[in-house]
Amino acid sequence: MSPFHRLLRINLTERSFRQEEIPSEIERAFVGGKGLGTAYLLTEVGADTDPFDPGNKLFFCPGALVGTLAPAACRYELVTVSPLTGLYLDCNAGGHYATALKASGHDMVVVEGAASSPTVVHVHDSEVDFLDADELWGCSIYETEMTLLQRLGQPGLRVASIGVAGENLVRFACIANDFSRQAARGGPGAVMGSKKLKAIAASGTHAVAIARPTEFIAAVDQALRQIADNPWVEGKRAHGTVGSLEPMYAVGAVPIRNFTASEAADMPSLALEEFEHRFAMRFACAMCPLSCSKGYRLLGDSSSSQGIEGPEYETVSMLGPNCNLYDPDAIAEANYLCNQLGLDTISAGATIGLVLQALDDGLLSPAQLDWPEQSLSRAEQVAALLEAIAKRRGIGDLLAEGALRAAQALDLEKLVPHVKGMELPAYDPRVSEGMALAFMTSDRGACHLRTWPLGRELSGELPRFGTAGKVDFVVQQQ
Ligand code: SF4
Repeated sequence: MSPFHRLLRINLTERSFRQEEIPSEIERAFVGGKGLGTAYLLTEVGADTDPFDPGNKLFFCPGALVGTLAPAACRYELVTVSPLTGLYLDCNAGGHYATALKASGHDMVVVEGAASSPTVVHVHDSEVDFLDADELWGCSIYETEMTLLQRLGQPGLRVASIGVAGENLVRFACIANDFSRQAARGGPGAVMGSKKLKAIAASGTHAVAIARPTEFIAAVDQALRQIADNPWVEGKRAHGTVGSLEPMYAVGAVPIRNFTASEAADMPSLALEEFEHRFAMRFACAMCPLSCSKGYRLLGDSSSSQGIEGPEYETVSMLGPNCNLYDPDAIAEANYLCNQLGLDTISAGATIGLVLQALDDGLLSPAQLDWPEQSLSRAEQVAALLEAIAKRRGIGDLLAEGALRAAQALDLEKLVPHVKGMELPAYDPRVSEGMALAFMTSDRGACHLRTWPLGRELSGELPRFGTAGKVDFVVQQQ
């Protein structure tokens, strides 16, 4: 159950806030995180609400165990109406932001209305400050976060913010915290942008009280031992999710050229050792014993001399092979660009992959797109399109609507793999009926995070092909 039994409601239109008790029957039924946010969304936001209407709301919901010693209890769920699908959306992010939000003494923060000018909200314990943010509008995620950390300077302060993509209502703009953790899919950053909300900074001094500490510590201990004994964990700790690229490619799951191929002659350029060469440091979200995240140093000529976060499996696949790009440095730079601009790397890779495939195959002409960049290298094309999308420049204005809307406008709808308007993540469902089932039935559209039957298919716990046993598995996990 939610430890503080209260939510914080922030009204941007009125620049007001109040605390509300969360009814105990709601707490008991929905616990916290996604359940709690969804219960309030369904009650307070009508099904036909436009995602950019001030009547749409953002529910920031730390998980029920955040603030305790429970392993990997680090996530908040963001619940809203999706600009990409027009439907229910929840997405979550790790890092340390959820811990800071919980330390403010609230189990959920509800943002409603819309500001008339760029605004930063600072939540600290039971107080809320509304700060003018004109000078931050147009800043990258990194600049915004650094500026607020220095300016507000409170112990434990963490920031969730949007980049230029969110400001420009790109339908797959993310909300980022801790520089490179994102609530990414479905465009929650654009909802923040529509409310002229650049960032929410959070800090506080509230601790979560444990009702039965001895039993709780024993349960934590048991969970840590189970994690340590899991053979899957060491691979994730050693290689991060990018270690999945080779096994996924081996079974034909990696999308290539907008899901039109499953083999590519250049794939050896993305061998695991190419990423390991660039590995500089490992870091973790709050309380997570896995520490799967990787810091990279780029090896080739690079505009970015600083270390950057290494791309995850999804990002490598979608901004790499799905866009016919096989240069690890270029993919890492594209990931960095997405992190700065505030773009979901999966939808970005899917949307750019669609256009590049159509251009490569002569289904579109550069003139149709007002696309003068044909002479650029593939890496430069991807980077140019990311910038154009985030800033809604030229063809980027159409692509900022997401792959499905862009394809409909270009008469290319049959080229877009999607569910409910959300582009497929980096698992080709033609090699996994389990993933096809997962995508089709996910509440927010094509999503690999609600359930991941492919792992069981590859381990032999579920049949490799067919649907036997998979319906129950998918239902249980979802
Ligand atoms: S460090 Fe990796 S495994 Fe741990 S919570 Fe963060 S993203 Fe998940």
